[in-house]
Amino acid sequence: MDSLVRLNVDLHCHSTVSDGVLSPTEVATRAAGNGVQVWSLTDHDEVGGQQEAARVARELGMTYIPGIEISVTWAEHTLHIVGLGIDPENAAMNAGLERIRNDREQRARVMSDKLAEFGIMNAYEGALKYADNPNLLSRTHFARYIVETGHCKHMQEVFDKYLADGKPAYIAGDWASLEEAINWITQAGGIAVIAHPGRYKYSRSEFVTLYKTFKLMGGRGIEVVTGSHTVDQYHQYAHIARQYGFLASCGSDFHSPSESSMDLGKLPPLPSGLTPVWEELI
Ligand code: AMP
Ligand code: MN
Ligand code: MN
Ligand code: MN
Repeated sequence: MDSLVRLNVDLHCHSTVSDGVLSPTEVATRAAGNGVQVWSLTDHDEVGGQQEAARVARELGMTYIPGIEISVTWAEHTLHIVGLGIDPENAAMNAGLERIRNDREQRARVMSDKLAEFGIMNAYEGALKYADNPNLLSRTHFARYIVETGHCKHMQEVFDKYLADGKPAYIAGDWASLEEAINWITQAGGIAVIAHPGRYKYSRSEFVTLYKTFKLMGGRGIEVVTGSHTVDQYHQYAHIARQYGFLASCGSDFHSPSESSMDLGKLPPLPSGLTPVWEELI
């Protein structure tokens, strides 16, 4: 019964404005085609797709929530903070996002030199071919080039062998601090959400510190159901949401029809006893 009345909500995905392969219009069309009713496009560190996403969402009858996924460095690892319900025009947020985008080119060149040590040549130029937005070169673009040139069979192999945190061609970005990301989002009128917590390699005590710090700084939400989590992790992070009083979010983290583990709008329901983040946003 619950599934018959449940809203189809997808609050995390990417377009060609960052490291997805579909344009904002194409992502919106796919989302609506898959039955999404409440949608947010959350490109990495960039709001350039928001106007188009909002317009097409409206034309297709979806409720649109403006979004962003901000790259953060916390406790020596990269952490992603999703911002939902932001004003994409907010000046302070845009100045901050521009600063972290600017570091990407230099990092990409270092990554390219590192990959050359493993016989993967011209990776900077190769990755750039895949990047619609050259200001947002990401590991995903490198991974596509590495698969294309036959060095790996698929994207996951690239990350497992070279690009994941701790692997030999991983180059840490110089991202925002946690406090900056939360402040940019909240000053822009949005809700800060910890993205895919199951992906981080923090110790148990670091996670506790993260949740407490995030909350003290004004962070309010956590992703419970995402394409990056196993079913066990849905329940693990549902428990964290209840324990810390976080709003619960869900999103496919869709990047591409052929690469993503979960398609737009194909998420299972949130576990019970949670307050959905979208209740405050729609
Ligand atoms: P970057 O912002 O350049 O550090 O790239 C991060 C992006 O790489 C993420 O948003 C994902 O799209 C992708 N990514 C990171 N880790 C993995 C992984 N283990 N498997 C597949 N994609 C990944
Ligand atoms: Mn990505
Ligand atoms: Mn992410
Ligand atoms: Mn993402």
